Amino acid sequence: MAILVTGGAGFIGSHTCVELLNAGFDVVVLDNLSNASEKSLERVKELTGKTVKFYRADILDRDALNNIFDKEDIESVINFAGLKAVGESVRKPWEYYENNIAGTLTLVDVMRQHNCKNIIFSSSATVYGDPVEIPITEKCPKGVCTNPYGWTKSMLEQILTDIQKADNEWNVVLLRYFNPIGAHPSGKMGENPNGIPNNLMPYITQVAVGKLDHLTIFGDDYDTPDGTGVRDYIHVVDLAKGHVKALSKLKPGTGLSIYNLGTGVGYSVLDIVKNFEKANDIKIKYEIGPRRAGDVAACYSDATKAKEELGWEAEFGILEMCRDSWNWQKNNPNGYDD
Ligand code: NAD
Ligand code: UDP
Repeated sequence: MAILVTGGAGFIGSHTCVELLNAGFDVVVLDNLSNASEKSLERVKELTGKTVKFYRADILDRDALNNIFDKEDIESVINFAGLKAVGESVRKPWEYYENNIAGTLTLVDVMRQHNCKNIIFSSSATVYGDPVEIPITEKCPKGVCTNPYGWTKSMLEQILTDIQKADNEWNVVLLRYFNPIGAHPSGKMGENPNGIPNNLMPYITQVAVGKLDHLTIFGDDYDTPDGTGVRDYIHVVDLAKGHVKALSKLKPGTGLSIYNLGTGVGYSVLDIVKNFEKANDIKIKYEIGPRRAGDVAACYSDATKAKEELGWEAEFGILEMCRDSWNWQKNNPNGYDD
C-alpha cells in the first residue's frame, strides 16, 4: 500500500515525501513539473536512502490517473498539486479554477472509481479571509477571499466536505497551512520560486544573496505592535510532519477533519527581518512602501486542535526557520538549477 503525493516534487510536497519515507510509508509521486524540478526527488533519495516512484502527469489527465491507480496500490492521497501564485491568479482566474478545481474533481472521481476514498487536501489560512477572531481556531468562520487562488481553496474545501457528507466511506482531512518558510536543514531541499518572489521569506533571501537590492515592507500603519503585518510562519519540515500525523485521520469512519497547521505565534515583517539578520549575521536593506492590496493586518493560528487530536506541534522556532531558509538559498542560489 502506498501514499500518492500529487505535487510531490514541489516545495511542501518534497519535504513531505522525506517525512513519509522516514516514517516507513511507500510513496508514489505525481507531478506535472509546472512549478518544480525532478531534481527535488533526487534530493529526497539522497536524504532518505529510499526512492519514490515518480509519474510525470497532470491531475487533469484522467487517463494518466487511471493508469496510476490501476498499476499502484494507493491507499490514500495527499493532494498538493495546484497553482499557488496569488497575483497570477488575479490575472488568470480561469487557469486557476481549471487547474485547481477541475484537477481535484478529476482526481477525486478517479479515486472513487478505484475505491480509494482517503484524501488530505492542502488548504490555507487564506480561507479565513480577514479573520473574525485571532488567534484563529478551526471554528472561526470562513471569510471572503481576496483573490481567485484563495477561492479555489475555499471552494475545494466545500466540495470535499459535500462529497464526504454524501458518502461516509470518504475520509477527508483539510489542512489549513499558515505561512510555510524554511527549508530542509541539510540545505539540499527548499523553495524554488519562479521569477521575482511574491512571498516575504524568499524575497528576503534573494536580497541577502544579492539578487534583489532591497525589501519593500508593505505598510507600517497596520493595527499591530510595530505597524507591519503579522503572520504565523511555520517551518516546512514541521508542516511536512503534520501530514504524516494527519494520515491517522484517514481511518474508516473518521469522516471529515479540519486542522490549522501553524505555530500559534505571530511575527511582524520587521520581526522577521530582525530574526533573519540575527540568525545569519547579515544585514537586510529595506524600505517602507504602501500596503499591498488584499493583505490583512494579522493572521495567526490557535494550533491547539492539531496538538490534541494529532499529537502534532511545530518544533522549529523562528531563528531556525531563518537559518534554514538562508542555508538553502546560499548553497543553491539558482534553486535546483545549481
Ligand atoms: P509548489 O508549487 O512548490 O508545489 C505544487 C506542485 O504541484 C508543483 O510541483 C507543481 O509542479 C505541481 N502541479 C501544479 N499543478 C499541477 C497539475 N495540474 N498536475 C500535477 N501537478 C501539478 O507549491 P507548495 O508551496 O509546495 O504548495 C503545495 C500546496 O500547498 C499547493 O496546493 C498550495 O496551494 C498549498 N499551500 C501552499 C502555501 C505556501 O505558502 N507555500 C500555503 C498554503 C497552501
Ligand atoms: N510582505 C512584505 N514585502 C514583501 C512580501 C511580503 O512586506 O515583499 C509582507 C506582507 O505584506 C505580509 C507578510 O509579509 O504582511 C507575509 O506575506 P507573504 O506574501 O509571504 O504571505 P501571505 O500571508 O500574504 O500569504
